[in-house]
Amino acid sequence: MTNRAEAVVNLSAIKANVATLKAKAGVDLMAVVKADAYGHGLVPVAKAALDGEATWLGVALLEEAIALRAAGITAPILAWLVPPGSDFQSAVDNDIDIAVASIKALDEVSAVKSSKRPRVHLEVDTGMTRGGFLDEWPKIDALHLHGVEIVGIFSHFARADEPGQPQNLSQLNRFKKMVASLESFGYPNLIRHLSNSAATLVDEASSFDMVRTGIAMYGLSPDVKTLGTSKELGLIPAMTLRAKLHLVKKVPAGSPVGYGATAVTKSATKLGLVAMGYADGIPRVAQSAGVSFLGGKAQIIGRVSMDQFVVDLGADSTAQSGDWVTVFGSGADGEYTADDWGAASGSINYEIVTRIGPRVPRIYEP
Ligand SMILES: *Cc1c(COP(=O)(O)O)cnc(C)c1O
Repeated sequence: MTNRAEAVVNLSAIKANVATLKAKAGVDLMAVVKADAYGHGLVPVAKAALDGEATWLGVALLEEAIALRAAGITAPILAWLVPPGSDFQSAVDNDIDIAVASIKALDEVSAVKSSKRPRVHLEVDTGMTRGGFLDEWPKIDALHLHGVEIVGIFSHFARADEPGQPQNLSQLNRFKKMVASLESFGYPNLIRHLSNSAATLVDEASSFDMVRTGIAMYGLSPDVKTLGTSKELGLIPAMTLRAKLHLVKKVPAGSPVGYGATAVTKSATKLGLVAMGYADGIPRVAQSAGVSFLGGKAQIIGRVSMDQFVVDLGADSTAQSGDWVTVFGSGADGEYTADDWGAASGSINYEIVTRIGPRVPRIYEP
């Protein structure tokens, strides 16, 4: 059986990006592999990153961390979206570090009965106003921390992709204060971590003991407008998404294309049906993106359907039914990129890669 579409993931690119980011930061690097490694495949990406210079793995969910352990990975793993009521016992039994952001969660983790001490990173809210201790922070005392091993303290930036934005400095300063208050309880060797990809690239003062890099490790820019393209940042996009043209056909001028007839051919042309749709993560609203192939590019015409979309190949196209086309890639050969698809759908590259659906096989290049 041959695939109708596939996401080809270049693992050497992941390793090279890890090395680039690690050299920038000069401290330990946690490879963020949540959301199926941003759609690139949890276990292969985690292994590649650890084969490279990453020493930690970061995930959102406990299930993701357990899947990594089940795959035989022994590196330290932090899971940061583990609410009260979670299976903290499994976390402790599997040597998974847990991020805690409330006294309730801290008490539940402390209550786990095990020969191992639960390992905790305290998440603090330094101004993003999403996760992390805020109002309860002054109430934490040695009593709450008694039953656990406090491994680290961390926070997350809201605007690291806007260098020079005053909120970044204010978050950094609040982080330093919150670290100092925890250290005053007698924790001198905490792993302090604050930077995401954007901060790792442009704000060395925030690196502390470890950086947590997601998007840049996959070779994508956290924000092309403010930080530059992948190429400008020295990053190599790891994923190429390709699909088959399952049909190429000639149509006359004035042909309404697709649901709602939102587009009409201006002249006689050849259309190509690309074998991917919104069920595979191609945004339904995407307009000014398309596909590339040897000798050209073709833009989307009409609405993206669930399993397919139509591109206008032009009257003189030599494309044939069954040809492969590239939906996005590194851009090195002029193809569309995940950045282009983000822009074409009012979104960002993060959403484009993480939403590539499970029907699309991931193919790994060493
Ligand atoms: C997703 C996430 C990261 C990685 O962010 P990138 O912008 O992809 O580098 C780091 N830390 C936390 C807490 C996250 O949720």
